[in-house]
Amino acid sequence: MLIDSHCHLEDWVKTDQIEKILAEAYGQDVHKFVAVGTQLEDWKIYASLASRHKCIRFCVGLHPLNIKDDFEVQLEQLPAFLSNAVAIGEIGLDFHQLPSGKSEQVAYTKQQIVVFEKQLRLAQKYNMPVVIHCRDAFEVVCEVLKYARFDFHSVLFHCFTGTAQEAEYLLAAGAFLSYAGVVTFKNAQAIQRTILATPLDRILVETDCPYLAPVPYRGKTNTPALLPYTARHIAALKQIDFQTFCEATTQNTQIFFRTRW
Ligand SMILES: [Zn+2]
Repeated sequence: MLIDSHCHLEDWVKTDQIEKILAEAYGQDVHKFVAVGTQLEDWKIYASLASRHKCIRFCVGLHPLNIKDDFEVQLEQLPAFLSNAVAIGEIGLDFHQLPSGKSEQVAYTKQQIVVFEKQLRLAQKYNMPVVIHCRDAFEVVCEVLKYARFDFHSVLFHCFTGTAQEAEYLLAAGAFLSYAGVVTFKNAQAIQRTILATPLDRILVETDCPYLAPVPYRGKTNTPALLPYTARHIAALKQIDFQTFCEATTQNTQIFFRTRW
């Protein structure tokens, strides 16, 4: 049995296909799901979805690329979802595409840092783990976490694609790392070294669907049913029996999110 530790299901809820998508996942032995809401509209969808489906837990957070003018209004609503959510996330920093002007860049990155830090404070206040989105911003993300004195044992870097050195730094601090379909891509040698540096008791697996479908479905719409391709790939790379790997990642997911389901 596998748990998809990070998936975005809202499109299938909106188009009434969620039952079909979940059934396809069960057919591939993926039985549990952590759905990740990246803005207020999705937090509502997941709170309702999880109340109807025991197999689904959910996270709520304001994604750095979803910060709009109303971000304060959205953040004010966040605590209302926390009693049923398993984590705050995904939150963090995305500096992949910065605006061109220097002052626009400063304002853009500053706003992301403010929203990130506010959500870390909420996580501390409500004693919840956080799921981190980090793109081209590793050092700043770590600095904000350290500045907030956030406990790294309650930090999960999702869709981790950092170097082995970055992984070792996070692991030594106590963090968990989650790997997505990217690890199956042909040009993924660096990330494969990172996986080898990640011990079995800190690995989670995810689809991050509908994005990042693993090989042999690269470029297509990803779904939770494709998770075994990523899991098998990592197990083979680490020369671990697939069943043992599934049990370990299931246990890690339940430990990190502090819930059994
Ligand atoms: Zn995501």
